[in-house]
Amino acid sequence: MTMPGCSPPVVPEEIRTRIETLVRERGAVVLAHYYCRPEIHEVAHFVGDSLGLSQEAAKTSARVIIFCGVHFMAETASLLCPGKTVVLANAEAGCPMADMVEPEALAARKKELPGVPVLTYVNSPAAVKALSDICCTSANVVAVLRSLGSRKILMTPDRNLAGYAQKLTPEKEVLTWPGFCPTHHRLNLAEILELKERNPDALVLAHPECQAKILREVDFIGSTSGIIKHAARSDRRKFVVLTEEGVLHPMRKNNPGKIFLTPKTPMICPNMKKNTLQNIVDALETLSPVVKVPEEIRGPALRAVELMMAVPRD
Ligand code: SF4
Repeated sequence: MTMPGCSPPVVPEEIRTRIETLVRERGAVVLAHYYCRPEIHEVAHFVGDSLGLSQEAAKTSARVIIFCGVHFMAETASLLCPGKTVVLANAEAGCPMADMVEPEALAARKKELPGVPVLTYVNSPAAVKALSDICCTSANVVAVLRSLGSRKILMTPDRNLAGYAQKLTPEKEVLTWPGFCPTHHRLNLAEILELKERNPDALVLAHPECQAKILREVDFIGSTSGIIKHAARSDRRKFVVLTEEGVLHPMRKNNPGKIFLTPKTPMICPNMKKNTLQNIVDALETLSPVVKVPEEIRGPALRAVELMMAVPRD
C-alpha cells in the first residue's frame, strides 16, 4: 500500500541538460505514457494515455518523435506521422496484450464471421489494426461501439475491456477475443474487498482492463486520463487506484491534499518501466531504434485509427 505525499523524482542535472540540448539539435519532441517512470514524466514534453498520445503525435510539428511507451504506441505515432522519424526509446518495450492477437488468427476469425465489423483496441499491432474496421481506446470504446451500424461486433484483443463495453451497450452483441493485460488482469478480488473494508471513506477508481469481478466493486471506471481527472475533480480525500502505478506520480503531484492507496499486488507494467532516462539520451543521439510501419499496412491501419479519432466523445 502506498501512503500520501511524494518526493519529486530525481533527474540528474547532467542528463536533463543533455536531453534538452539534444532535443533542440534534433528538432525532437519526447512523448511519454503515464505508466512510464516518474523521472521520464519530468523530462517529457507531453505525458498522456493512448488517445492523448495519438492526438499529440498527430499535431506535433517536431521532426523527430521520441516515444517512451511500448511498441504499438510508437507504431501508432508512425501511422499518424509518416514523414517524421519515430524512435521507441527502448526497443525491448512490448505489450503482452498486443501480442495476444496475431494478424493470421484475426484473418481466420473474420472468415468465420462474414459481415461482422472488427473493433480493435489501440493496444494491438499495426498489422491487426490494418485488418480492423475501426480502433478504440479505453477512453472512447463506448462511443466507438455506438457509432457502428452493426449490432454484432468482434472486439480484439482485450476481453475485459470488451466485457465492460458490452455492459454499457446492451443493444450490441460484442464478441470477444481472449486477450488481457497481465498488469490489470491479475488483481485479486479478496484483496480489493479487504482494502475497501479498511478504507470505507475511499473512492475506488479502476481501469476497464481489470476483470468484471473487480469492476463490479468499484465506484468509477475510466481510462487512465479519466481516472486522473475524476480524482482531481472529486471532493473526496481518499482514493483506491486500480490501474498501473505510473498514474500516481501526476495524481499526487497535482492533488497534494489527497491520499492515494494501491493494492498489495503491485500494478506495474514491466515493459513501460523499461524506458529509462539513458534510453532517451541514446535515442536522441542515435535516432534509433526507428519504428516505421510498412506502407501496405499503414494505409488500412491508419484508416481504422482515423475513423476512431473522428468519433465524437460521449
Ligand atoms: S499496462 Fe498492460 S496493456 Fe498497457 S502496455 Fe503494459 S501490458 Fe500492455
